[in-house]
Amino acid sequence: MSHLFRHLPSVDAVLTALDDEQDMKELPRPLLRGLVNEFLDVCREEIRSGVIGEESALALGTLIPRIKAYVRTKARPHFRRVLNATGVVVHTNMGRSLLAKEAVDAVVEACAHYSNLEFDLDTGERGSRYSHVEKLLCDITGAEAALVVNNNASAVFIMLETLAKEREVVVSRGQLVEIGGSFRIPDVMSKTGAILHEVGATNRTHVKDYEGAINENTGALMRVHTSNFRLIGFTKEVSLPEMRELGDRYDLPVLEDLGSGSLFRFDGMGLINEPTVQEVVAQGADVVSFSGDKVLGGPQAGIIVGRKRWIDMIKKNPINRAVRIDKMTLAALEATLRLYLDMDKAKSSVPTLNMITMPYKNLRSRANRLAKVLREELGDAVTVGVRKGVSRVGGGAFPEQDLDTALVTVQPRELSVPELKKRLLDTEPPLVARIEDDVFCLDPRTLDPKEYRLAAGAIRQALT
Ligand SMILES: *Cc1c(COP(=O)(O)O)cnc(C)c1O
Repeated sequence: MSHLFRHLPSVDAVLTALDDEQDMKELPRPLLRGLVNEFLDVCREEIRSGVIGEESALALGTLIPRIKAYVRTKARPHFRRVLNATGVVVHTNMGRSLLAKEAVDAVVEACAHYSNLEFDLDTGERGSRYSHVEKLLCDITGAEAALVVNNNASAVFIMLETLAKEREVVVSRGQLVEIGGSFRIPDVMSKTGAILHEVGATNRTHVKDYEGAINENTGALMRVHTSNFRLIGFTKEVSLPEMRELGDRYDLPVLEDLGSGSLFRFDGMGLINEPTVQEVVAQGADVVSFSGDKVLGGPQAGIIVGRKRWIDMIKKNPINRAVRIDKMTLAALEATLRLYLDMDKAKSSVPTLNMITMPYKNLRSRANRLAKVLREELGDAVTVGVRKGVSRVGGGAFPEQDLDTALVTVQPRELSVPELKKRLLDTEPPLVARIEDDVFCLDPRTLDPKEYRLAAGAIRQALT
């Protein structure tokens, strides 16, 4: 066996052989050399374990195709595009919202050139980065003031740290949620120095529960969107107008973590209506926080709107600097919010809204087109069908609520369905979809028609 090691080609011989390949020549030399070394280590391991037992298997000409495949796979950037065929529109693990074209253009402009990020073009003096979106946010939501931070988690943090540090915050037991990624409202609260005062029972909380909890050290009343779960059956939550009334009586701010926070009314789309940010503001919440990249369909950001009295205090908190929004995000956010000045325009141009509101008959015809492309490209290597199914909004919005969709089913002839799913994680690009009733299902809701050929290509790669 040991004589085989001597037949391994040298690193330099491999590098010379790869010199004809344009894409390999463009790789940084140390990266390429490192990967070739790694590959040769794999071969040594294969010799030791007996997988390679013949001299001929180590000939440069025999190894080259494997080396190329190995290098191409390993040299890819780690952070890559993925085809999302899960039908989950706001998929946190796959980047949540896709930006509208207007927002993408604004990002490119913002990062390729200098800008008036914190420069007031009226005075020639230092300006504020919130100024670009504050008026828009106030116009859209009806709030008096607004600021934006890195994400909603930091929005909740800075809101509590500013308004309730070392003071009690009254929250219903039914709203002490964990939203995933180990973000739990009680834990976040204790990190801000606010003291959680929980009231009510898990399923029912009354006005008298909140009122009974108020004492001289109470700093705020808070409501939290239950996000990814839904309380059903014998339940009672105190309404915002009731909270407002209580807040007024004791001069306490009413804070609301809306989570996903929609600016758009999903009326008549088979979804149980959730209050929009506009409604929550109109009903008198003092400070409302929500995400930029959930149902709103913009970049990752935390948006805080509300009464000027409280927002001004938050703006002055030095923590703002630690959670500030960057210029590319700000550019994308402004461009997205501008689309909301016309709700019909938002519905058609903001991809997240467009995907959530896509009618079943469109999904059905998209599914048929996707099925046709798959049949054309894959022939009889797979059996392709179309059937009814459901998609989800995701991102903690509209939990447990189904959206009707049409699914494209793919049954490979010579491969198991779980194996197909697994192999699709390593194709170019990777394709993520789900198995339902033992068949592989692609949901066209989250797949752009321009991606159908790519999806077919990924499946072809997985089959071979
Ligand atoms: C999603 C969510 C958050 C966190 O928002 P990010 O934008 O992910 O930081 C906070 N609270 C609730 C209720 C949420 O649903």
